[in-house]
Amino acid sequence: LQNAKKFSGIVPPQNKMLGKRRGISSKFVSPMLTNNDSDDSGKSQESPSSTTIVVDERLKNIDPKMVELIRSEIMDSGTVIGWDDIAGLEFAKTAIQEAVVWPMLRPDIFTGLRRPPKGILLFGPPGTGKTLIGKCVASQSKSTFFSISASSLTSKWIGDGEKMVRALFAVARCHLPAVIFIDEIDSLLSQRSETEHESSRRLKTEFLVQLDGATTNSDERLLVIGATNRPQELDEAARRRLVKRLYIPLPELEARLQLVQRLMFTENHSLTDENMKEIAALSRGYSGADMLNLCSDASLGPIRSINLSQIENIQASEVRPVSMLDFRKSLTRVKSSVSSRDLDLFVEWDKTYGSGC
Ligand code: ADP
Repeated sequence: LQNAKKFSGIVPPQNKMLGKRRGISSKFVSPMLTNNDSDDSGKSQESPSSTTIVVDERLKNIDPKMVELIRSEIMDSGTVIGWDDIAGLEFAKTAIQEAVVWPMLRPDIFTGLRRPPKGILLFGPPGTGKTLIGKCVASQSKSTFFSISASSLTSKWIGDGEKMVRALFAVARCHLPAVIFIDEIDSLLSQRSETEHESSRRLKTEFLVQLDGATTNSDERLLVIGATNRPQELDEAARRRLVKRLYIPLPELEARLQLVQRLMFTENHSLTDENMKEIAALSRGYSGADMLNLCSDASLGPIRSINLSQIENIQASEVRPVSMLDFRKSLTRVKSSVSSRDLDLFVEWDKTYGSGC
């Protein structure tokens, strides 16, 4: 109990960084017991001005370097994302609020049959807001957000991926409620071939063990969100554990309009409401990320029209507003990154395995 009490001081609210990922140089709070602490375990709690000493039994078998890395690189306790920051996707947003956000806020009401799933899957084309949703779930459920790409576990952490998974879940359990977002989860939980490498088999097993641990311990407020652009690669074991599977499709006309309006809101432009609607109509098939690229490219239009010799001396106020013509040019340059063939695959998979409407 004492450990748990002490640990509750690990992320004091004043340390939370709004809208900013922890950088590698962020101050690290060691999970190890120090000499000062060993003789009087209550001290550090009583004097908030002194460095917070963190001791947690649950991390005693975990490599401190990994704990440090997870806290500095993978954990993000500050980014605040609201549902309104996500354009469109009304169905997915409602389903996620009901299935996981409210239960995380009110575990006392969501018991028995209302008990939330411990794993959900977001699938769909790249750049459609899956990561954004993960961050939003964490901020809206007042949880700590951990985000890792599964391919980094297999590439960057060759051989150590398994330990990293164990460390990730252990650190997350010290920061409950927590959301662990795993991008490209297909590379971790794919249907393996006979030639599968021993280390990736162990990595996969460890991940499934951790996920099952979260499911068994139903009171623990830990949610795993997997995201993938290749749901068809997931095997049955993965599907069974990621019980809620939501299709995150390309933005519809209305969502594309919202995206253009929001992205251009802070820019100096001469676009009318009609122009914005036209841009939304002309960008059919674009993902949210494509819309961002389109608007960035169009915003460079006024700069491109400046003579090279003038660029150094021109006043910022002399740069002309972004126009519809800039958008017309950018629409020929920035293309949709998703093919219609890929879209058919998502729709097919959604019909078979999705939790859609
Ligand atoms: P994914 O995880 O699906 O590949 P991201 O969530 O990383 O995509 O989205 C990439 C970027 O595209 C976001 O940071 C955001 O700027 C923009 N974006 C994509 N979809 C949306 C959306 N539905 N609403 C608002 N912004 C979006």
